[in-house]
Amino acid sequence: MHSLIFHVDVNSAFLSWESAKRLRDNPDALDLRTINAVIGGDEKMRHGVVLAKSPSAKKYGIMTGEPLSHARQKCPDLVIVPPDHELYAASSRKFIGILEEVAPVIEQCSIDEAFCDMTGTEKLYGDPIAFATKLKDRIYKELGFTVNIGISTNKLLAKMASDFEKPNRVHTLSRKRWQKSSGHSRWNRYTAVEKPLQKDCALLESQPSAHLQKLTARCYSPILNPRAIICGNPPMVSPPLP
Ligand SMILES: [Mg+2]
Repeated sequence: MHSLIFHVDVNSAFLSWESAKRLRDNPDALDLRTINAVIGGDEKMRHGVVLAKSPSAKKYGIMTGEPLSHARQKCPDLVIVPPDHELYAASSRKFIGILEEVAPVIEQCSIDEAFCDMTGTEKLYGDPIAFATKLKDRIYKELGFTVNIGISTNKLLAKMASDFEKPNRVHTLSRKRWQKSSGHSRWNRYTAVEKPLQKDCALLESQPSAHLQKLTARCYSPILNPRAIICGNPPMVSPPLP
């Protein structure tokens, strides 16, 4: 039986969670996702970086991790909202709670991302793409924020798939398609690690435990959360919620 892995990733998590809360409190509130807005530290105290950005702020070239002062220079009318970590923890718990209802095994890999091992659930839920679409729509309906879902046969490819066009999308990526299309522009960011990754994928499938230690010492951090790099699908365990 083929493995079936979903990678579920909240779009602009901190900004989305703040927007969803404001709209819950006041349905007429301005949706931060529709204006030039970022979540960041205290601009007046001259410290802080961009933690999340709206799509329109992104069009000004504002990047996550950039100092707020730089972001302000790029977009003078930028709305800067301070972070609310209690809200993020609560939103993350609700997000993971929905995944736990539908996935036999989940592995949360950051506050706003999780892998779901959906292997064998086709008989229960039917077509995986249709189910993933229902799942993302349910998250939006119940919690007010969008997610991307990447579907593949291992975690690495599912993670790559969820990073394709955003927001609010379901994408699939098979190993064959990845290998065939790796020259395509949207995979250009992966080309620096493509060959070693292909080798790692093959080695992990043939000798997972032996290769794993070597692999964890390698750095694919520009594209991957190090905890998400295990692509041979060893058993996943649900970690404690934050
Ligand atoms: Mg995210």
